[in-house]
Amino acid sequence: SRAALFDAENKVKITFSDVAGLDEAKEEVEEVVQFLRNPSKYTNLGGKIPKGVLLVGPPGTGKTLLAKAVAGESGVPFFSLSGSDFVEMFVGVGAARVRDLFKQAKEKAPCIIFIDEIDAIGRSRGKGQMPGANDERENTLNSLLVEMDGFATDSGVIIMGATNRPDVLDSALLRPGRFDRQISIDKPDIKGRETIFKVHLRPIKLDNDVNPKKLAALTPGFAGAEIANVCNEAALIAARKDKKAVEMDDFQSAIDRVIGGLEKKNKIISPDE
Ligand code: ATP
Repeated sequence: SRAALFDAENKVKITFSDVAGLDEAKEEVEEVVQFLRNPSKYTNLGGKIPKGVLLVGPPGTGKTLLAKAVAGESGVPFFSLSGSDFVEMFVGVGAARVRDLFKQAKEKAPCIIFIDEIDAIGRSRGKGQMPGANDERENTLNSLLVEMDGFATDSGVIIMGATNRPDVLDSALLRPGRFDRQISIDKPDIKGRETIFKVHLRPIKLDNDVNPKKLAALTPGFAGAEIANVCNEAALIAARKDKKAVEMDDFQSAIDRVIGGLEKKNKIISPDE
């Protein structure tokens, strides 16, 4: 079906205040926000706005969230698609989808195109590809390169890509005029986890002994997505017990549950462990 070619959001409500920590990354994308707010201010003097920004980091660390926040801060539409959607696609569909996406984006410029899991499209030849899927993936990658080269830098379209496998990317994607800026997004340290907890605790009714510092200490190795998950689970656990506020033991149960889920997931991904 051609119904879900890609997602488009005209009014993005997410802003930098929803993105906890990641201060350096936010500083780097602030430049993109300035470009998108007023593209001609930059191009009038002959400068070239970057076309592509690659966000690199482990799953669940806020790459999608940050890209959306750039759209929200700039007040521009957000077009997105995920590389993994292309993996099992009929011949010609992937390339057509990329062309459609760029066509619509150019009409709505200034705007952001976000490509999640770009490694699924942009893997260099011979690196862990699925047999049979290669030709179509290459077609899709080629059409992405053609589209990126084909629009002027002053068109006001900025492409943000996200990956946790920069090592497998085809070098063609990283050439000047394509994804020539990289921003790394790391898993949060204890201080970062505390700030992320603060964001996700905002909507929750808390018992007095719950505090973000303690929670950060209890969740080493957690990414933002897992922290968001813990906060939500804790609220549901407390509700099930008919509590008036969420208590520390609800968070402890939620943390145990999320750790259990992660262990299961890791077993599925690496069965030989
Ligand atoms: P993936 O690589 O799996 O697509 P991602 O890096 O794009 O992951 P997001 O989808 O942005 O991660 O994060 C998932 C959710 O986790 C967010 O919607 C948000 O609720 C929460 N989250 C992640 N990082 C942060 C952060 N730095 N601050 C606040 N919330 C966060």
